[in-house]
Amino acid sequence: MAYKIVASQCSVCGACEFECPNAAISLKREMYVIDASKCTECAGQFDKPQCAAVCPVEGTCVPA
Ligand code: SF4
Ligand code: SF4
Repeated sequence: MAYKIVASQCSVCGACEFECPNAAISLKREMYVIDASKCTECAGQFDKPQCAAVCPVEGTCVPA
């Protein structure tokens, strides 16, 4: 299980990048993307996915 970023909604603010405990979020071709192989949905680290928690755009960091 992993989260994804809905590219059409992302404002490329960068807030999520440094909140991810697994460094799963990076800027690729001027868009933020989540590496599904690194995303744990923050299980065991936080009580909710941190990217979704900090994202200012509702519904942009969502379960893949
Ligand atoms: S859900 Fe957690 S582990 Fe997955 S990308 Fe978001 S912050 Fe990183
Ligand atoms: S916090 Fe949300 S709007 Fe900002 S870069 Fe991440 S996904 Fe995009």
